[in-house]
Amino acid sequence: MRIVNIRETAIPLKSKLANSSFDFTEMTTSVVAVITDVMQDGKQVSGFAFNSTGRYACGAQMRARFIPRILAADPATLIDTSGANLDPAKIFAQMMRREKAGGHSERSIAIGTIEVAVWDAVAKIAGKPLHRVLAERFNSGKLPDKVSCYVGGGWYWPGQTIKDLQDEMRRHLDAGYTLVKMKVGGLPLDDDVRRLEAVLKVVGSGDRLAVDANCKFARAEALAYAKALSPFKLRWFEEPCDPLDFALLAELASVYEPPLATGENLYSTQDVENLVRFGGFRAGRDIIQIDPPQAYGIGQYARTIDMLAANAWPRTSLFPHGGNQMSLSIAAGFGLGGAESYPGVFGDFGGFADDARIENGTITLSDRPGIGFEGQAGLYKIMRELAA
Ligand code: MG
Repeated sequence: MRIVNIRETAIPLKSKLANSSFDFTEMTTSVVAVITDVMQDGKQVSGFAFNSTGRYACGAQMRARFIPRILAADPATLIDTSGANLDPAKIFAQMMRREKAGGHSERSIAIGTIEVAVWDAVAKIAGKPLHRVLAERFNSGKLPDKVSCYVGGGWYWPGQTIKDLQDEMRRHLDAGYTLVKMKVGGLPLDDDVRRLEAVLKVVGSGDRLAVDANCKFARAEALAYAKALSPFKLRWFEEPCDPLDFALLAELASVYEPPLATGENLYSTQDVENLVRFGGFRAGRDIIQIDPPQAYGIGQYARTIDMLAANAWPRTSLFPHGGNQMSLSIAAGFGLGGAESYPGVFGDFGGFADDARIENGTITLSDRPGIGFEGQAGLYKIMRELAA
């Protein structure tokens, strides 16, 4: 068996939403199809992925380096010992040939997206949902039948009123979610606190609400927000400052008692190790939110989990960023704390299978082979056309 082609395309997300730091009007994502010669039901098996949200499409690196390296390799060197399936680790190693250490995000998103698409193909060839394949390989076969899931919402958008924001949060609760997240840092502190108090009236208590500052604050403002937010005992305070300012993160952790969160802008195991070594992050309390397709993919994510375990971090402290079926499969398969959800935003790239059910803050898993994009009609149409 072999990979016969790998295709990619950039798709605009078409969103007017904004966080504290930028809007999504130019946002794009790369969709990838890894096409194999394995036939199932008269069709070639293809694996799909996209590079999540928040980082732009990265087709240039894929076309110039990573796709040609895979297609140039002897196909026999890319398959597992059974000879019947692809070996994601061997394909990853092929993509990493002639790559210099460090400088991760220049390549980690392109490589990670292709790697996750390979996993989709691997699970389809095995005839199993990806979450089951991951549970068997990385979690002693333990698999939940549903996964804790929270809404990454509360965006800023043009003309928004506080009532609009409360209505949004009511919709999330009515849909079955029990934990919601809202943006902070896009308005002056006093206005943000008024917004937050209005949302708390809807959700009921601080442990049902997280906030996300999207790396906005320098030291003084980060400390001011930490002081103002502290009494609300929120579920977590996400990305208060630059993701690589480990000294400031450590200072915040020394004065802010409730959980902090970060990680969606860290792209390597080494960066995450530096966070837990030098960023003051507290094992068992704080939250780490790596986005696996943006950070070299699933194999690297497994290595990061091993590194964290050696530093006494439980898997339940990990909530992968992304709000899509890739993160959901990974959260289920590795037995993580939960997954994010972006209901109704990012068009075809937000949300889960069309038949997924949310109940009491958890989401059901599907039995579709692979990641399960086939159950997401709008997104699968884009993927199917790319592979055709
Ligand atoms: Mg975030």
